[in-house]
Amino acid sequence: TSLFEAVELAPRDPILGLNEQYNTDTHTHKVNLGVGVYYDDDGRIPLLKAVRKAELARVEAAAPRGYLPIEGLASYNNGVQTLLLGADSPLIAEGRVLTAQALGGTGALKIGADFLKQLLPQSKVVISNPSWENHRALFERANFTVETYPYYDAATHGLDFNAMLAALESLPAKTIVVLHACCHNPTGVDPSIEQWQQIAQAVKQADLVPFLDIAYQGFGDGLTEDAAVVRLFANLGIAMLISSSFSKSFSLYGERVGALTLIAGSQDEKSRVLSQLKRVIRTNYSNPPTHSGTVVSSVLNTPELYALWTEELAEMRNRIRAMRQQLVDNLKANGVKQNFDFVLAQRGMFSYSGLTADQVEKLRTDHGIYAVSSGRICVAALNSKNIDYVAQAIAKVLG
Ligand code: PMP
Repeated sequence: TSLFEAVELAPRDPILGLNEQYNTDTHTHKVNLGVGVYYDDDGRIPLLKAVRKAELARVEAAAPRGYLPIEGLASYNNGVQTLLLGADSPLIAEGRVLTAQALGGTGALKIGADFLKQLLPQSKVVISNPSWENHRALFERANFTVETYPYYDAATHGLDFNAMLAALESLPAKTIVVLHACCHNPTGVDPSIEQWQQIAQAVKQADLVPFLDIAYQGFGDGLTEDAAVVRLFANLGIAMLISSSFSKSFSLYGERVGALTLIAGSQDEKSRVLSQLKRVIRTNYSNPPTHSGTVVSSVLNTPELYALWTEELAEMRNRIRAMRQQLVDNLKANGVKQNFDFVLAQRGMFSYSGLTADQVEKLRTDHGIYAVSSGRICVAALNSKNIDYVAQAIAKVLG
């Protein structure tokens, strides 16, 4: 018999499974709102002009493709730190910040998880309820027990702040707390900055280990504004980890470009942490890719390209906002009585629309509109051509 005879079929990824179904759907006006990708008004994944310029320059320079250092390109890592903490960050000046280029936000979470497992073998990980569907699986794969803290309140379409805070306050010391620093996936619901201040104090008081995940910097209110929570935590003076991603903000999904950043107590501590983190990376994939690292680094470090990038990012952000507004307006225009104004308060690519699993199912079977069964829709997949169709269909399903 074959070695693999007894291998069981794993369940397919719920969201990627939805894509497969969408691709074979024969509805003429089908719309895929299940994805986690930004599409432009023509329904295409944009290739940013800033990226294109940096890529052309790189090809033109006929750059050799040697190995990068294990922790990646220094100019890239410095660029990441500046984006997260600000160019004038005293922590950077003190040499306490360590960044390793990683294979997307996912790769950053994974090397962070492996490093933490070594450091805190007894700790549990807590994630928000709900959270990005890969958080639990990823930390469980790294041999952590994963539990949740309250987050979303379906009754208010908002944050269950008191329950969240009480849960964090009661966690044992050194529990690893995964927090979405902006544009929460899947709900779109973020705490206010005042609430964040209380969350940060609770984390510090209870001696928890914050692991901030920021995959959508620039999609909320702006690059600097969206880093406010990272900077708030950094100023607490406690050790922390940050996973960040350029998949969305550079529209470079397939290039696997992200970073893990750690804030240590001192420069010496940082050097020792780096040496351990390098072992984790070395035994996983050795070193990160040159292409994406170089391209992003040259955009971050070339004033003209940086200016172009921030313009293009603002365009993406503003288009998503406009789609939120149009969705709410069009639902009203189609006679929907329920109040959908909460969609306007949500931030980032996603909205927990409040649609039930049955309604989501009806959207798919009757209209060829795909959403996640939780009711999560990707607002960044709406456009001027499909918004009327989607709003009409939702109105019918609610009707
Ligand atoms: N964290 C969150 C909250 C995400 O939504 C995502 C991606 N959808 C990631 C991490 C992973 O990002 P990447 O695609 O860069 O691996």
